[in-house]
Amino acid sequence: MPSLPEQIAHREVTDADVRRSYALDATVALAPPPDDFTVVRARDLSDVVAVLEHAQATGTAVVPQGARTSRSGGAVATEDCIVLNVEALDAVHEVNELEGYAVVGPGVVNADLKRAAASAGLFYGPDPASWETCTIGGNIATNAGGLCCVKYGVTSDWVKALQVVLPGGEVMRTGHRTAKGVAGYDLTGLFVGSEGTLGVVTEAVVRLEPAPDPALTALAVFDSLDAAVAGIVALRRDPHRPCLLEIIDRTSVRAIQAFGDFGFPDDCAAVLLVQSDRPGHVADDVARYAGLLESAGATDVAVADDAQESEALLAGRRVMSTAFEAMGGRLAEDMCVPIGRLAEFVRGIEAISERRAVLIPVSGHGGDGNLHPSIVYSHDDPDSLARAWEAFDDLIRLGLSLDGTITGEHGIGSVKVPWLGLELGDAELDRQRRLKAVFDPLGIMNPGKVFPAAPR
Ligand SMILES: Cc1cc2nc3c(=O)[nH]c(=O)nc-3n(C[C@H](O)[C@H](O)[C@H](O)COP(=O)(O)OP(=O)(O)OC[C@H]3O[C@@H](n4cnc5c(N)ncnc54)[C@H](O)[C@@H]3O)c2cc1C
Repeated sequence: MPSLPEQIAHREVTDADVRRSYALDATVALAPPPDDFTVVRARDLSDVVAVLEHAQATGTAVVPQGARTSRSGGAVATEDCIVLNVEALDAVHEVNELEGYAVVGPGVVNADLKRAAASAGLFYGPDPASWETCTIGGNIATNAGGLCCVKYGVTSDWVKALQVVLPGGEVMRTGHRTAKGVAGYDLTGLFVGSEGTLGVVTEAVVRLEPAPDPALTALAVFDSLDAAVAGIVALRRDPHRPCLLEIIDRTSVRAIQAFGDFGFPDDCAAVLLVQSDRPGHVADDVARYAGLLESAGATDVAVADDAQESEALLAGRRVMSTAFEAMGGRLAEDMCVPIGRLAEFVRGIEAISERRAVLIPVSGHGGDGNLHPSIVYSHDDPDSLARAWEAFDDLIRLGLSLDGTITGEHGIGSVKVPWLGLELGDAELDRQRRLKAVFDPLGIMNPGKVFPAAPR
């Protein structure tokens, strides 16, 4: 690999163990990391510019990186690449109350942006379950969702403008800070969700809104998954949309209870968690939601009276990912289907689980139709991993057959590259690759992610 120019050589991670820790992200069941790659920890815009100038001049691949919480292998190192980590660009430059925006570096952690907004009486919506670790740069690159999307939408609904460094080092600005603005194509929208394949986000202007009321939670227990899905449909029809609507099935509840006692009944088929934060109407909304859930067939509904009880009801949901780790290896799915097809999707998942003889706990953002079935396999049993991949393929085809999409929020990354054409079709796939070439003619940005790596 060509050595780094002097001006950025001092940003290179030289310790071999530390360097290796930047090779993978939170995705499991990936190929082993490459041997030969360089890690640069940028500290400011000029470092990013210098890396991208050097990369373009030498034809070296660049893997932009935030906090490495990607669930789709989007941030993993490739052979001979430069991993360009921008976590240290973590300043909240401005919170503008009058105009309703914040200007932040890409390394700002999602929860820190929420806290900075809250200290000005404002609110930033998107809240991935990884909110205490993932970065805004990563959220923008993946168009991240989260628990509150059912009411507040995804990251793209909150990004107004970007500063991006392109291959070759050119600094580009997109979007506007004004309340409205439609000059030219929406290149901000193009970069949101581009998974590091076009350039490196070095600054973002994100929309802030007046803070809602503190949320209250209701937890409903069901003895069938169908009844829980009916509960989701009933809540989606309510004129005042919940700000959180999560589903946790029996296997997931058992994994959570095995991790610690979070008060979930072991014998239920599913649990729904629902919240309201509508200013002045939180208690009324949650009481109405409880009634709707009972009518849909809930066998028990607990309603929190205050913020502390609300958090207690959510605590099991918050540890779910860690609780799953005790089950073995798992392929985390991220399908999104129309709400009206959710019942068919859930039944289809059960059938796949039976056919492939693999455990598939189902949980996720039920209110969006965005489920995260987790296909469990044993680390000691290669056959179970093979069956898990077959089930992964089955799930993708099932979701598409129900007019769904192969990824609701985690992105294509490296994991779902073989399936993107199935959703887009050849012509659209080709158009998107040509679009990438406008910004990245040499194909050095995150090769092998989203599209198959082209020979360079
Ligand atoms: C426990 C857990 C829960 C999760 N829950 C959710 C959830 O509810 N909703 C959800 O959407 N996701 C969720 N995720 C996935 C993950 O947190 C998100 O995809 C997140 O947006 C990734 O942010 P990151 O900073 O870790 O980025 P990374 O993982 O480092 O990178 C992700 C992608 O963004 C690119 N990238 C990163 N920074 C930049 C930049 N500055 N410029 C250009 N490209 C960049 C990378 O190349 C890569 O393609 C979860 C993950 C975990 C581990």
